[in-house]
Amino acid sequence: MNTPSHRNRFLRVILDAPRLNYGSDLFDYRWPDDRAAEIGQRVLLPFGRQTLIGLIVEITDTSEVEPSKLRDAIAVLDDVPTLPLDWFTLMRFAADYYQRSLGEVALPALPLLLRKAKAYRPESVQPQEPARYSSRSIRQLRKKSMGAAKPDTSTASTQMPILTAEQAVAVTEIRSALRGSEFQPLLLHGVTGSGKTEVYLQALADVLARGQQALVLVPEINLTPQLLEIFRGRFPQARLASLHSGMPDGERALQWLRVHEGEADILLGTRMAVMVPLPRLGLVVVDEEHDPSFKQQEGLRYSARDLALVLAQQRRIPIILGSATPSLETWAQAERGRYKKLTLSSRAADDAAGLPQIRMVSLERTPLEHGFSETLRNAIQQRLERGEQSLIFHNRRGYAPVLACGACGWISDCRRCSVHAVFHKLDGRLHCHHCGWEARVPKACPDCGNVDLAPLGRGTQRIEETLASWFPEARILRIDRDSTRRKGSMQTALSAVHAGEVDILVGTQMVAKGHDFRHLTLVGVVDADSALFSHDFRAAERLFANLMQVAGRAGRAHKPGEVLIQTRYPQHPLFAALTAHDFDRFAKSQLDERRTAGLPPYAYHAVLRAEAKTLEAALAFLHAAREIAQNLLVACDQSSTIDLYDPVPMNLVRVANVERAQLLVEARSRPALQNLLPIWLAALRAIKTRVQWHVEVDPLEI
Ligand code: ADP
Ligand code: ZN
Ligand code: ZN
Repeated sequence: MNTPSHRNRFLRVILDAPRLNYGSDLFDYRWPDDRAAEIGQRVLLPFGRQTLIGLIVEITDTSEVEPSKLRDAIAVLDDVPTLPLDWFTLMRFAADYYQRSLGEVALPALPLLLRKAKAYRPESVQPQEPARYSSRSIRQLRKKSMGAAKPDTSTASTQMPILTAEQAVAVTEIRSALRGSEFQPLLLHGVTGSGKTEVYLQALADVLARGQQALVLVPEINLTPQLLEIFRGRFPQARLASLHSGMPDGERALQWLRVHEGEADILLGTRMAVMVPLPRLGLVVVDEEHDPSFKQQEGLRYSARDLALVLAQQRRIPIILGSATPSLETWAQAERGRYKKLTLSSRAADDAAGLPQIRMVSLERTPLEHGFSETLRNAIQQRLERGEQSLIFHNRRGYAPVLACGACGWISDCRRCSVHAVFHKLDGRLHCHHCGWEARVPKACPDCGNVDLAPLGRGTQRIEETLASWFPEARILRIDRDSTRRKGSMQTALSAVHAGEVDILVGTQMVAKGHDFRHLTLVGVVDADSALFSHDFRAAERLFANLMQVAGRAGRAHKPGEVLIQTRYPQHPLFAALTAHDFDRFAKSQLDERRTAGLPPYAYHAVLRAEAKTLEAALAFLHAAREIAQNLLVACDQSSTIDLYDPVPMNLVRVANVERAQLLVEARSRPALQNLLPIWLAALRAIKTRVQWHVEVDPLEI
């Protein structure tokens, strides 16, 4: 029997693979022209000896690839609606901006189940016809998705409070921005407890009434359940979806599908949620926009906050950036009038006692006992007597940052990194917080046999122990990464705090963010000094934001809150601004310094990082890279716009037996930097080297 003759077409696809040597990030495959295919569909492909899933971005009649090298695509997958053009536009932006191939950005943005080629099996249809490929897990998901979207109609919506005057102004501005159907960034600068959430809720109500979708980004997984609960209470009719990295793959795919298919009205999620296609998007909210967690620190090192801004710009919609301590990048934009500033300057709740009083406890002359000043200890005692809660903030988990031998000087270093391994008393082990290396605590010093190994410094476990010995009656709860490893344990712990079942809460960063603890009247910061004199120019900004955040947990209802910060430098200007709750003053002084020093946001950074077996190899690669960049700059007359620093070992030079170094590129013009990077990286890709390297644009830490 004659097979019907068909001509070939070519599918131009993207794959989760780096750019090819000659710069393209597209791959061509043959596909018969009588078989359906659409741009934005997923496609099953042979790649080397593997089978992969790619995305069709072009369909053409010609291919430049040598015919002998062209292969046939296996099957076009039609089990998920086509990915829309506007989603590709965002992916393309991210790829270009962060110097990756389109596929390296777009494919990892899809849920794992949608990129698992192995799950796809041919289904025999008619013997003559080409097989259709499908995946059982996706079929099951689709069945679930049809059942899942039902909104809860049983609960009545919770009461709306009467807005404060400042909230009302903010809401009016946002409403008018929503009507404008234009890109409009709004900075909601509201002190802790000022009711930013209520402003988001009113904006969301508007978006829902317009039949549009909203994207709400939060920095922490742990903030999603409580916010989801608030949304559910206020909008019982709305279809909610949420996404974060702690979700199992199936659940993630399900949530993603509901949003992509327009079956969800509000998507609440952590940074990854910015990558989800939202067909009816009307508003983006980035809560705690200053939070470093919005920056992905591995793979595609993107800033979800920055991409959210691009997304809003591309879709011509408003975006609300909310924070008590906006990032200096955002603040500078607001000061220049690019973002509209909306201010909430006082606490909103009817029973709120106003902003907490922040006091520095000088450690200049005060002797410390187990890390505590008498002032802080007494303050806790007082809270216990009054039946109020205290939060002791300390941003180091474990028992002690290091274990040392007083006899010979041995210290507990990680075997694989250039850092100390942290002593954890609860499991009796040393843990490296950077590579995961761990070992039993030695019974005696491995070098000299001395049996008196001493913990130096303190972590949250030790603080908990000290407090327990001082206040044996108190109910003490520690919240850090170690205490919340089990699924659901964080929520259980938070509920206990809310229910008043805890007297003293000891915690890291995890408890500093966002939580509305109503019974808490004291916040103690054990040590605020480690970040004061850091080489990192952003350390002060981060410290201020952290302290403001944690201070903001105190006194959110009825009784006034007090914040005690222990420091050896009580006169430091950062603390003066903090005590006065004066973010504006702090931001202005920081921005003045940055302007004078030519640092972001008045300059634009990229770092090239190299990793190798030896530091010499990593540095040698960076020196070669620097020379190439230097030549390119001379050739295009940009030497005065862009500075190339000397390659240096990274602060944490060795992690997991890999030596790391970096080269900082500092530009006075964003376009100049963006012009240099692709040609430079193309030249680097041509270098044959064993060194692993990557570039990070807008690094947060250098
Ligand atoms: P933020 O996110 O700005 O720190 P929240 O949104 O958590 O503050 O609000 C703090 C508290 O104030 C919450 O308990 C909230 O219910 C309450 N609240 C917000 N707006 C109002 C209002 N207009 N009237 C009364 N209470 C309010
Ligand atoms: Zn020793
Ligand atoms: Zn390590």
